[in-house]
Amino acid sequence: MRMPSPRSRRTLGLGLAALLAPSMIAACGSATAARTTSAEGARTTAAAVTPRDSAGTTGSPSPASPSASIPGQRTAPPSTAAKSPSSAPATGSPTAAPSSAPASPSATPSPTGDGRSHQIVRWTAHGGRSVALTFDDGPGPATRPILDLLREYHAHATFCLVGNEVERDPAAVRRIVAEGHRLCDHTVDHPQPLHSRPHDRQVHEIADAKQSILRAAGPGAEVPWFRAPGGDFTAENEQIAADHGMTSLGWSVDPRDWAKPGAPAIVANVQQHLRPGGVVLMHDGGGDRSQTIEALKQLLPWLQAQGYTFDFPAGG
Ligand SMILES: [Zn+2]
Repeated sequence: MRMPSPRSRRTLGLGLAALLAPSMIAACGSATAARTTSAEGARTTAAAVTPRDSAGTTGSPSPASPSASIPGQRTAPPSTAAKSPSSAPATGSPTAAPSSAPASPSATPSPTGDGRSHQIVRWTAHGGRSVALTFDDGPGPATRPILDLLREYHAHATFCLVGNEVERDPAAVRRIVAEGHRLCDHTVDHPQPLHSRPHDRQVHEIADAKQSILRAAGPGAEVPWFRAPGGDFTAENEQIAADHGMTSLGWSVDPRDWAKPGAPAIVANVQQHLRPGGVVLMHDGGGDRSQTIEALKQLLPWLQAQGYTFDFPAGG
């Protein structure tokens, strides 16, 4: 909605990186949870809880301070950024397990075969007092009610779509685009963990999902982002995404709606952890999302009252 090209403000967006410490809870996914029940959310397994995720899943205080830069982040926070980090963890995750995963790609750009580094975006395109709402695992039964709410509040969001679900409901994708929202590739079949799949399978998951989304969306559509199921980003899948013209998209706030903690808990989590320029992870697919819908009914007016504008993620 009436915002200039994200690319034109990319530098500013990147600046928020230093602030937006990753509270990447393994949202999108637990390595073992069935997609139909946990969508993004798995965060409940050790495999899914990487170091970047653990800050959010363990419920421990975030180690980041407002001025602390995240190793590997490219730029300093802009002056418009929040005075406190958005890295605050999601509220208690009783089932979260310690992670043995290697260094977080969110904190350290992943080395790539071509010598470039990739970075996982978890901040908005324009910074300032903006928020990027993202919805994963759809389209599903909750997609249309969520679109209705977004329209009611003149809000825009980014939908990280699962290819197989897109094939089942391409009309939902067309509506998403028609109403001004944007698209993100969330693999064909939401495999978890993605990194354990053979390279060719990962290419299929990422490349073919994008093609499904583009076909469904129609002429002129773009899929500028890729989000790994469960936040399972690796140098390998980030490279595959980059090769297909997509930026890896993380998040800074995971209200754990996938776990169905109750709408009030989802609302409170976002209200507690969101900082200007943040990216919020929620789900419109992967299971019963009635709590997410109820939470949005409160969060959307709250965000407006707090002076937030609805932005898209950086890198779009
Ligand atoms: Zn997911």
